Amino acid sequence: MDERRPRLALQAVLPADLAAACGIDLTDARRIVSLAHRLGELPARAPATVRRAALDAARAVGEVRTLALVERRASAEDPFVKYAFRLEDGAMVESVRIPLERPGRYSACVSSQVGCALACAFCATGRMGLTRNLEAWEIVEQVRLIRRDLGATVGGGARVHGVLFQGMGEPLANADRVIQAIRVLSEPSAQAIDMRNITVCTAGLPSGIRRLAAEVPAVRLGLSLGSVRPGRRRQLMPIDGAHPLEEVLAAAGEHARATGHAPMWAYTLLADQNDTDEDAASLAALARGFAAQHGISPRISLIPYNAIAASDAPLPSPGGAEDQRAAEERRAAADPFVRSPRLAAFRAVLTAAGVGSIVRYSGGGDVGAACGQLARSQAQVEAQRSGGRGASSRPRAAPDAAVGAPSTPPRPV
Ligand code: SF4
Repeated sequence: MDERRPRLALQAVLPADLAAACGIDLTDARRIVSLAHRLGELPARAPATVRRAALDAARAVGEVRTLALVERRASAEDPFVKYAFRLEDGAMVESVRIPLERPGRYSACVSSQVGCALACAFCATGRMGLTRNLEAWEIVEQVRLIRRDLGATVGGGARVHGVLFQGMGEPLANADRVIQAIRVLSEPSAQAIDMRNITVCTAGLPSGIRRLAAEVPAVRLGLSLGSVRPGRRRQLMPIDGAHPLEEVLAAAGEHARATGHAPMWAYTLLADQNDTDEDAASLAALARGFAAQHGISPRISLIPYNAIAASDAPLPSPGGAEDQRAAEERRAAADPFVRSPRLAAFRAVLTAAGVGSIVRYSGGGDVGAACGQLARSQAQVEAQRSGGRGASSRPRAAPDAAVGAPSTPPRPV
């Protein structure tokens, strides 16, 4: 570790902790945190509202760090914007700006890890393997940079209203830093985002679900189901081997009872995998059972699949039609899943069973909005530019099987 490097990343510190770390009073600490979040740096000269000695003390223990924006893709089809950020060690993560129903309000879908160890079969990130956890400041900085981009591109009071932990990575596998990031995001002098508008979406880690209930109870819980048939779920989501759905739902039930919040159940429809009438009937029965047992009905969110292959394809090759064909074949082999055409029929079965659902708008298909696509394609670009030596976040070989949260950033309701 570099001894000269200040220890605190000022975007990920709460005012009380900053005050304690450098012996300044809480009011100054709040104003310094506010400056860090608004400016993305500490000003060279203390503004009138902050004592110079306090600013110097903060500078002595901390600094404002940032991520490099390497790509910004605005969808031509809808108001989704996807960002690829390079971290200080060269790894790549991505975030998505999602428009909400109310004009001027947006949700930031953020990454919590570089890659992911859970290897969901239908997820581009799951094919990367896990490189590392993100630090709390790296999570907060994604939101801060999206907010800055909103100010520059939309203006007029547009703001980040909510945060969704559904980008790259399993957030509850990085629970310490995710919870610290949530605390900072909701701190009034930092990003001031109401915790009730923050959703953590998990593939199903029961201990992490219990931590959310105990430590940040206002935060909403999302569960990725994949399938409610155990054998099929395990094929799609290997985490089911370690934590079967039954165990995950027990933890989700405790969470619902402790917090009073209904969990969101995300169900990505995949043709011929989990989209039959029987699958729908099983899902309806599970939802009714959950409501009967815990007194709270889950909110079921049906998600059309965003094909990985659509924008996670190899770059066009200079080798002509032959190479293009080979690239197409590789691309098709990389994604065996297809968007289900049975969404309406599936939903009708739920409705007939008395179980409500929403269809989540699956936007940004043209910008690689499915989790992991843009970071992967950026890593491929950099690998090709460097003569195939590879960027540090270059995806590793795809695991044989997979798990996870839904692959498509949602339009929260
Ligand atoms: S869906 Fe989520 S949990 Fe599953 S591999 Fe992708 S990032 Fe990981």
